[in-house]
Amino acid sequence: MRLIPEAERASTLARAERAQLSIVVPFYNEATNIPALFARLVPILDGLGIAWEVVAVNDGSADDTFDRLMAAHRGKPAIKIIDLSRNFGKERALSAGLAKASGDAVIMIDADLQHPPETIPAMIEKWREGYEVVYAVRIARTDQTRLARVLSRLFYAMFDRLSEVPLPRGTGDFRLLDRKVVDVINGMPERTRFMKGIYSWVGFRQTGIPYEEAARHEGQSKWPLWGLFQLGVDGLTAFSNFPLRVWTFVGAVVSGLAFLYIVFRLLRTLIYGIDVPGYESIIMTTLFLGGVQLLTLGILGDYIGRIFSEVKGRPLYVIRTTVGLDEAPSTGREPAAADRATKI
Ligand code: UDP
Ligand code: MG
Repeated sequence: MRLIPEAERASTLARAERAQLSIVVPFYNEATNIPALFARLVPILDGLGIAWEVVAVNDGSADDTFDRLMAAHRGKPAIKIIDLSRNFGKERALSAGLAKASGDAVIMIDADLQHPPETIPAMIEKWREGYEVVYAVRIARTDQTRLARVLSRLFYAMFDRLSEVPLPRGTGDFRLLDRKVVDVINGMPERTRFMKGIYSWVGFRQTGIPYEEAARHEGQSKWPLWGLFQLGVDGLTAFSNFPLRVWTFVGAVVSGLAFLYIVFRLLRTLIYGIDVPGYESIIMTTLFLGGVQLLTLGILGDYIGRIFSEVKGRPLYVIRTTVGLDEAPSTGREPAAADRATKI
């Protein structure tokens, strides 16, 4: 009989205890949604017949989200918690969840039940067919104003034109990622986490499945229009250098026109002599060029700001505490925590 070295045994054990499927859920003031979410999610996960875990990320909630997550964890130890030290925003909360999730596949889903958990089995099926990214495509969006819709369409059109990667329409963070993809994303050092762009940038075999987006279960969306606008600017500047480079072209065109105008004025002055009026043309060129220069400076500032935050190299998020992350995944068959406790 071969003696298994301690280290190797530990690693096989760790592998056996690893979840096959991790569900990452970000929570920001979602206390009222927690019971309904797990009531729907857990039976579906149990029905899959594979070892699963939920990695719930509490993104600095001010309500009792954490306490309710703790209650859920006590009832089902496979529900694990990452408690961030403050609100870092959804994208970073998801990064924290992805970093700690141990599954061979990871699915990200919103806490407000806008992403129906019933879509999960179909995602798993596609994953088993060999797809490494299965993104859910929204077929109806219920909560968007007309202005938001127009702006979002404009953003997509611009992004496709300017960036190196396309963005599939109607998709978001609701998706399954294979372990390979999760490892690549975890290894990406950038602080500007424009996840939509990152999902597309990583490549791999990707496919989409449709889902119908529900209305928010409780509470309000945390994305005001201004927040979305900033997300859009972040996305564009993180995935395209076009806004930086276009000014070389604009500058060349303006200089060329200015040169022609200078020649024209010189000749006119030589032939017809000096005429003093010219206030309008001076004002117009000064204002126009001033505007263009300020705009350019602003765009430079945007990129420099981004470089600054990358150079500082601060961590993406700070974890106050984690709960249950060393616990075994659930197979849907083991007794609940309470029963286990009485047996010990
Ligand atoms: N969220 C988060 N941190 C934030 C904002 C939102 O973790 O700073 C979570 C939120 O709890 C929810 C998900 O991200 O689970 C989507 O948020 P929301 O429903 O507000 O966005 P929408 O569905 O309107 O895009
Ligand atoms: Mg929502």
